[in-house]
Parts: sequence; structure tokens; C-alpha cells
Amino acid sequence: MKAEIISVGTEIILGSTLNTNTHYITQQLSEIGIDVLFHTSVGDDPNILKDVIKIGLKRADLLIFTGGLGPTADDMTKEIVSETLGIKLELNPAVENGIKEYFYKINRPMSSNNTKQAYIPKGSKFLVNEIGTAPGIYIEWNKKILILLPGPPREMELMFHNQVMPLIKQNSIIKIKTINTIGIGESTLEMALKDLIEEKENPTIATYAKEGSVDIKIIGKGKNQEKVNALLEETVKKIDSRISQYIYSYNDEAIEEVLYKKLKEKNMKIAFCESCTGGLITNRFTQIPGISEVLDRGIITYSNKSKIEELGVNKETLDRHGAVSKQTALEMATGLLNKTGVDIALSTTGIAGPSGGSKEKPIGLVFIGIATENNSYAIECTLSGNRISIQNKATSKAFDELRRIL
Ligand code: AMP
Ligand code: MG
Repeated sequence: MKAEIISVGTEIILGSTLNTNTHYITQQLSEIGIDVLFHTSVGDDPNILKDVIKIGLKRADLLIFTGGLGPTADDMTKEIVSETLGIKLELNPAVENGIKEYFYKINRPMSSNNTKQAYIPKGSKFLVNEIGTAPGIYIEWNKKILILLPGPPREMELMFHNQVMPLIKQNSIIKIKTINTIGIGESTLEMALKDLIEEKENPTIATYAKEGSVDIKIIGKGKNQEKVNALLEETVKKIDSRISQYIYSYNDEAIEEVLYKKLKEKNMKIAFCESCTGGLITNRFTQIPGISEVLDRGIITYSNKSKIEELGVNKETLDRHGAVSKQTALEMATGLLNKTGVDIALSTTGIAGPSGGSKEKPIGLVFIGIATENNSYAIECTLSGNRISIQNKATSKAFDELRRIL
């Protein structure tokens, strides 16, 4: 289904109101696999609006309007849409009562121009406005769907979520499966799935990169639940056969959630000592309810002094190799393991920038140390981006490394 979003309001095209409605609706529609092909903004001008509607009807199946449903004279989306489609407006008593009730509830007199809002195109459905007066309108016309929504974002979003989404979804079953990957870049992933992504119209496959991880969304559509499920399962199998080593969840989970479950299942305790990530790893872990069952502690050991005092890193190691080195990362992790008696200790040390880089140790150089009873090692990563981005990516790397050992 091809969709066009039409925002109506002079304030939008003058730039005094940011067009958040179009952004919201587009995001919501893409979640359920509807392609939004056009964004149009138009001022409160009846002739231009009429042209816009005619163009929209030629190129899209679903037209969603926001704005211009208010009680004042410049609000005329409903009137112009009806006129363009050749449908008469008629007073809808239910809508009229709703508006009366709204004014009664907020204890204000209803002005006469609010009656205008109780008229809807003949044969259309109205959408209840729970927090305002302008009802939304749903029109099916010549195999096209036109939906008119109020301009105020709060009213529009509530109506969209509660009423519009169910109406759009009723026409077909749409199911989304999200697979989470880590340790593979988006472009490499896309190459690995290129033919699947290109050949597939149903289900469609798309990748969404986050900092350090990539999600794969598979969207299946159909008239029948079982068929859609089968389509999704078949695609998941194909993806799995190519990149299974990078998949950490088939159920749209955060990596730390998966790590928590693994640690719990193996009855293991973990501790972190963080330098360049500054507590980010521990923070991500502590967002999971119940994490105290597996997390012993997180220490931010930023200075050399703290690395020596808290973790027992050798001064000679720091002098000879520097704080950002494989040796230091390893000693940090083993020191923490010995100190705490946990099953896994993980350390980070690196250069997050923007200053402090050198030719030998560039910005983005990060070492991650892992210590367990029988296996301790440190890995070197070269990460790109600004300070925050390097910290986030180092956190993802650490999680990916933990996933591999667990
Ligand atoms: P209207 O329904 O045209 O009376 O719009 C009422 C108010 O909603 C406007 O004054 C704007 O503040 C807001 N509004 C209208 N359209 C949008 C939009 N596309 N994005 C964000 N806010 C909007
Ligand atoms: Mg307006």
C-alpha cells in the first residue's frame, strides 16, 4: 500500500511549527510495512489544497491528512476533501453530542462555530477525539482510503494509535519479526543478505543500525495468520543459515538482557572495572530488573592510581605499556577477578577522544580484558566516531565478547 501524508497549515510551511506529525505517522506506518512515498505540506489555501488532493489520489492508495479540522474559518481540510471527492457533509448527531459533552466536561460554553466540527462526509466513519473537539474522519472512496486527523500532535497521536492503526491493520495481517545481531557492521550484513533483501517483496527485510549492533526487521503481510507466520519462519531460517554467529536474539531483545539470562542460567557472577566506558557497561546492566542475582559490582577505575589501588595493576606495567594497553586491560581484569571472586571479570581501557590520541595509540583504540578462572585474555579494538559513540561501541564490543564466552 502506497501512502502520502499531507500536512495542512500555513504555520507549517512558514516554518513556525515543526512538522512532527508527518514524522510520527511515517514512523508508525513503516513499523507495519506501509510505504510512505510522499510528504506534502500545504498552507491554508483551498485551491492549492484541492490540487494537492487530486495529485495524492493519483499517486497513493492511502492519504493521511493532519491539520485544518479546527472550528475556525481557515480550517477547511474536511470541506475541501469532501468537495474534491464530490461527497456531501452531513450533521452527525453522535459527533455533535461528543463535542457538547467535551465542553460540559471542561466547563466552558460551546461556541457556535464548533457545530461545524460535527459535520462529516456522508458515508464516512468518524474517529473519536478523546482530548479535543475535532473528530477525525475515515473515508473509503474508489478503493482509496483518506484519513483526516487533527493538527495538535497530542490529539493526533492518541487518535492514530488507538483508532487509525487498528483500521489500517484490519485490511491485512502484518507481522514483524526482529532479529538482533552484534559484531557485524550494517554494510557487511547487508551484503550477506543482499539477494534476500532485493528479491523479497513479502516479507520485506530491512536492517537498522544502532551503535555497535544491527537489527534485522522482517515484515510479512497476508490475509491469513498461518501463512504469514510460515513466510516469516522461512525467511528467519535463510538468514540464520548465513549469519547465525552474529545473531544474539530472535525476539527483539537488548544484548544485556540476553547476557543476564545466560549468566543466571549458568549461575555465574560478573564484575566490571571500567576506564574509558566510565560506568556505561555497568549502567546498561543495572537497567535490567533482577540483575543483582548476577552482577557483583562495577568499579570506575579511571586514574592510574585507582587501577593500582583497586585492581592491583603493576606500576611497571603502566609505566612500560601505558594505561591503554593489552597488558593493563588484562591485569585490570585478572586483578578484579582475584579481588572479588566472581566467575567473570571484564575491563575496559581506551582512548575515547577528542584529544589524547597519538600515532601509536589513536583515538578509538580500546582494549577489553576478560578474566575467568581458566582463561584470561585481552582484545584490541579500533572504533570510530566521537567520544560518546566510541564509548557506546566499546560497550557493545564488551557485550559481544561476553556473549561469545557465555
Ligand atoms: P489545526 O488542526 O490546523 O487547527 O492545527 C492546530 C495546531 O496543531 C497548530 O496550530 C499547530 O500548532 C499544530 N499542528 C498542526 N499541524 C501540525 C504538524 N504537522 N505537526 C505538528 N504540529 C502541528
Ligand atoms: Mg490549522
